[in-house]
Amino acid sequence: MTTAVNVRYLIGFQSSNAALFVDKERTLLFTDFRYAEAARTLEGVEFVQSQRALLKTVAETLDGRVAFEATALTFDGWQTLNDAGLELVPRKGVVERLRAVKDEAELASIREAARITDQAYGALAEERFVGRTERDVAWRMEQIFHELGAHGSAFEIIVGSGPTGALPHGRPTDRVIEPNTTVVVDAGAVFRAYNSDCTRTFATGELPDDLAQAYEVCLRGQLAGLEAMRAGVSGAAADAAARRVIDDAGLGDRFGHGLGHGVGLLVHEAPTARPESEDVLEPGNVITCEPGIYLEGRGGVRIEDLVLITDGEPDVLSSYTKDLVTVS
Ligand code: ZN
Ligand code: ZN
Repeated sequence: MTTAVNVRYLIGFQSSNAALFVDKERTLLFTDFRYAEAARTLEGVEFVQSQRALLKTVAETLDGRVAFEATALTFDGWQTLNDAGLELVPRKGVVERLRAVKDEAELASIREAARITDQAYGALAEERFVGRTERDVAWRMEQIFHELGAHGSAFEIIVGSGPTGALPHGRPTDRVIEPNTTVVVDAGAVFRAYNSDCTRTFATGELPDDLAQAYEVCLRGQLAGLEAMRAGVSGAAADAAARRVIDDAGLGDRFGHGLGHGVGLLVHEAPTARPESEDVLEPGNVITCEPGIYLEGRGGVRIEDLVLITDGEPDVLSSYTKDLVTVS
């Protein structure tokens, strides 16, 4: 396999240029000179020092039937291996399915990342929003992560006030935050390479009726989605549970994205909860539950928790309040 995050997951080796070959007898790691020293220290892995164009070395080393990651290998890479006479078998999602079920050590990192994120929301809510730009508030959130011991920010923090908040993945702008509107803040800390992901929507004073209603409906949808997130339930069914509430309130067309996505070494990974998802939830999955309602030109509301699927009740890893918090 050639996907960096999968190589990292399987053997704990971090590199921007590595290929891993596994069969019953051996595990071969192909990487170039820059990573040689680190590669030699790995136990149970044979290191093959490779050219910068790794697959040329892979082609010279392997023979016979070899499975490859169909979503990662480029056409050029496929040609290199094919021209060398390898019999190539495409495979999809093999390591991704393993990554979707977290072990205790992974969960400890994710829990800590989520805990830092919760604390950061608490600290951010103490600050002034009105009169500051979205960009300024986003930058402040990143500073708080750092102050609380996060190892990084999982993605570019979203702060969307008023109309910006109506764009689900709108990036923070120089817009000055106004009173009496919503501010969507979507952020996640990284701890030991594992991500968290959490969204809260704040009010800057009393909200107009449409935004107040959107918050109330979004929260009810979010709670219905959480309730459905259990082992054996399909991602599509969990999505439908939240969507039904929002549809019934007449706002279904304002919720245009899926309910959730797996989180781990990547912020978006398996499993997914959306209408077309074929995934079935199982214990050990960590997934978000994040319905949103977006009123174009007015404002947005999104509420997102990180959830661990268990044998019983879903274990919600995000604990910052979901009651509407008014900031100044
Ligand atoms: Zn998020
Ligand atoms: Zn998310």
